[in-house]
Amino acid sequence: MTSSGVRLEALRRSFGGVPALDGLDLDLAPGELVALLGPSGCGKTTALRILAGLEDADSGRIVVGGRDIANVPANRRDMGMVFQAYSLFPHLTAAENVEFGLRLRRQNAASRRARSREMLELVGLGAMGDRYPQQMSGGQQQRVALARALAIQPQVLLLDEPLSALDAKVRVQLREEIRRIQLEVGTTTLFVTHDQEEALAIADRVGVMRAGRLEQIDAPEAIYATPATPFVAEFVGLSNRLPGTVVGDVVEVLDARLPLIAAASAPDGAVTALVRPESIDVTAAPDGPGRVVSASFLGATARVTVALPDEVLVVAQTESARLADLPTGTAVRVVLRPVPVVVSAA
Ligand code: ATP
Repeated sequence: MTSSGVRLEALRRSFGGVPALDGLDLDLAPGELVALLGPSGCGKTTALRILAGLEDADSGRIVVGGRDIANVPANRRDMGMVFQAYSLFPHLTAAENVEFGLRLRRQNAASRRARSREMLELVGLGAMGDRYPQQMSGGQQQRVALARALAIQPQVLLLDEPLSALDAKVRVQLREEIRRIQLEVGTTTLFVTHDQEEALAIADRVGVMRAGRLEQIDAPEAIYATPATPFVAEFVGLSNRLPGTVVGDVVEVLDARLPLIAAASAPDGAVTALVRPESIDVTAAPDGPGRVVSASFLGATARVTVALPDEVLVVAQTESARLADLPTGTAVRVVLRPVPVVVSAA
C-alpha cells in the first residue's frame, strides 16, 4: 500500500490577471479521499493540475509525503490520473493501456503483464484485457483508465470529473466501485467534481471551493448539516431563504426559534435564515395561515411549496404518500423543526 499525505499551502495562480487560485490551503491525510466541490470556474481543476505538475503555481507550496515537490516535473511526481473520458490510447488494448506506465518505468514484460492482469481484475474487467477502447462502454473505459492510473502504485491518485461523461446509473455504480477500490489500495486521492451528490457519497471529506479558496472542508455529514457559511448552505443541498431575527445564539423565524450553527454566529438583528426543506413540516389545517401553491413528486419524497402571509414562500420536503392530503390551495400550517441553521445578511 502506498499512501502519502498531501499539503497545498497558500497556492496562487492567475490567468491574464484573473485569479483562479487565491491562496488555497488544502491538506489530505495519507489514504484519505478528499472531494473538491464547487461551481464552475472556482479553481478545482487548476488545483488538481498544479498538484499533478501540469500547471505551475505563481506562489505557494506543494508538499507530498513531507517533501516539497515544486521543482519535480509532472512525469516524476508519481501520481496516477483519471480524466473525464476518452483518455485511453485507442490503438492499444485495455491490457496494453494498463501496462503503459509500467513500460515507461522499464518494468520487464512478465511483471508488466502480471500487474496489468491484477489491476484489470481489481476494476472488474479481468476478461476484457484484449479489447480495444472502442469495443468497450464508457464506464468500462473509465475502469481501464483507473486500472492504468493505479498500476504504477502512485503516491497520489487524481480524479478530475471521471464520471461526468457517463449516464446516471453507471455513474453511481462506478463511483461506488472507485470508493471500494480506493479503500482497498489505500491511495491518497483528490477527486474533483461539480456534482454534490457524488462528492458527498464518495469522500472522507468534502472541500467546498469558492473563487479560488476553500470555503469549508469537513466530513460529508457536517458539510450538509452544519454548513459554515451561507454559500455552502446554498451550494450543497437546497435551502429556503426566510426572513428572521438573530437574538443571541438563536434566530427567530416564523414563530420558531432555531439555534445558530456554532461556526456561523451573527450579530443580533434582521437576517435571512437558510432552512433545509426537510426541516419543515407542512400539515393540512383549515385555520392554517399557509396555502399550498404547488407540489412536485420526486419518488419516495416530494416537495411542497407553501405561500405564507407577507409574501413568504417556503419549500418543504415530505413523504410523497402525504401529497394526497396537500392538493394545491389546501390551507396548511408550517412548523420549522429546531435544527441548527446558518444566516446571511437580510
Ligand atoms: P469547471 O468545473 O468548470 O471545470 P473549475 O472549478 O475546475 O471549473 P478551473 O478550470 O480551475 O475551474 O478554472 C478556474 C478559472 O481559471 C476559470 O475562470 C478559468 O476560466 C480560468 N482558467 C483555467 N485555466 C486557464 C487557462 N489555461 N487559461 C486561461 N484561463 C484559465
